[in-house]
Amino acid sequence: MQRLAIVGTGIAGLGAAYYLKDRYEVTLFEKNNYAGGHTNTVDVAGRHGPQSIDTGFIVYNEKTYPNLVRLFRDLQIATEPSNMSFSMHDQDSGLQFSGQSVSTLFAQRRRILSPAHWKFLAEANRFNVTAPQHLEAGRAEGPLEQYLIERGYSERFRESYVYPMASAVWSTAPGRVRHFPAATFIRFFHNHGFLGMNTQLQWRTVSGGARNYVQRIRAAVGARTYLNDPVRSVERDGDRVVVRTENGQQEFDRVLVATHADQALAMLKDPTALEVALLGRFRYENNQALLHTDSGVMPPLRRVWSSWNYKTQIGRDGVRRAATVYYMNRLQNIPGPTDYFVSINDYEDVEPSRILRTINYEHPLFDLAAVRAQDELSRLNESGPVFFAGSYFRYGFHEDALWSGLQAAKRLGHAREPVVSV
Ligand SMILES: Cc1cc2nc3c(=O)[nH]c(=O)nc-3n(C[C@H](O)[C@H](O)[C@H](O)COP(=O)(O)OP(=O)(O)OC[C@H]3O[C@@H](n4cnc5c(N)ncnc54)[C@H](O)[C@@H]3O)c2cc1C
Repeated sequence: MQRLAIVGTGIAGLGAAYYLKDRYEVTLFEKNNYAGGHTNTVDVAGRHGPQSIDTGFIVYNEKTYPNLVRLFRDLQIATEPSNMSFSMHDQDSGLQFSGQSVSTLFAQRRRILSPAHWKFLAEANRFNVTAPQHLEAGRAEGPLEQYLIERGYSERFRESYVYPMASAVWSTAPGRVRHFPAATFIRFFHNHGFLGMNTQLQWRTVSGGARNYVQRIRAAVGARTYLNDPVRSVERDGDRVVVRTENGQQEFDRVLVATHADQALAMLKDPTALEVALLGRFRYENNQALLHTDSGVMPPLRRVWSSWNYKTQIGRDGVRRAATVYYMNRLQNIPGPTDYFVSINDYEDVEPSRILRTINYEHPLFDLAAVRAQDELSRLNESGPVFFAGSYFRYGFHEDALWSGLQAAKRLGHAREPVVSV
């Protein structure tokens, strides 16, 4: 049997490993001390025993995640409905609302008489209806900010609705999402049911934490796995590939580099011109995730609390900051009375005694250059013996990473093409 090394144990690497397990002798290399990458379930002491909480990947749906749905079926992973609802809290104006119902849109009752609030909701409605039409007609080219200004959207709507939403979904600073390609933003939001404050899709979560599918894949693949062992270099040597870590080197017939694009490029000993040109176009941002129990970072009105809570504030430097707080009890159906939250890049102080875990993730930053590079990424996997996969091949989400892993698996001999999701 030929030997395949997979560098990176996120869903891109693990998905490929699962579908290639009968074709290759698979070896996994992982720099972290756990397998799963952005799938990172953490155990905390709960009132009824240990409570498993997802601090990275949490939710998916059955419409736009077809490959993940198939993988979970193949692995017989138990899943359950999640709740996807959104709230907004602009800490400068005091505006708070949630899209769960008409009542929560006017959670601050005085806003019923506020023309500004009605205008804001009218703009949201116009955007939700017309943006997909513009996309279909090919009239959503260029950066998001340009798209919104040309169509007359107010600064308030842009700054306290569209940018925070985009910045929360892609975990990116609001200042950066202005340069995000409008067409990519609209396509993703439309396809994932995010246009409309209450997503129309039924979202699901892995029962007991997403780590369950990681464990199931690892058991099924039975690969030799090196944790805490970052790959330092990947070098082609004729038709063999040498993988070096601090603990030594090994030769393989094929290598799948299933890390982020910048990490992939950094580990290639002699990257080709194409690899430099394409992998070099992706930039990443650090995201600090805090798992905690401090409800002080949530919207002041409890009836506004949603699964995803965006908040914005203009800092002393005049720059608008945005943060997202995931309400984990709602997302993972965790019983009370303790409320668990995951704050992403929160600018407010979370009470230190209430922080249960701090984790640093990196998320791809999609600008026009990166999105253009995506059209050509499949060229990297035409011949091997080094192949690539990762969420940067598409929108940056779990299905995207898995899809890319399955694309690479196909090139490595797996019989099936991945399902093309929207
Ligand atoms: C906080 C957060 C919440 C999210 N929630 C969702 C969600 O609910 N739904 C959704 O669809 N998506 C979500 N995402 C996005 C999604 O989880 C990721 O895009 C996807 O899981 C990325 O998978 P990947 O395999 O490409 O990369 P990763 O999961 O990042 O895996 C890459 C792996 O490569 C390893 N690696 C890197 N360099 C080396 C090296 N030199 N040697 C060895 N190993 C190396 C890394 O340690 C890592 O384990 C979320 C992301 C974050 C950060």
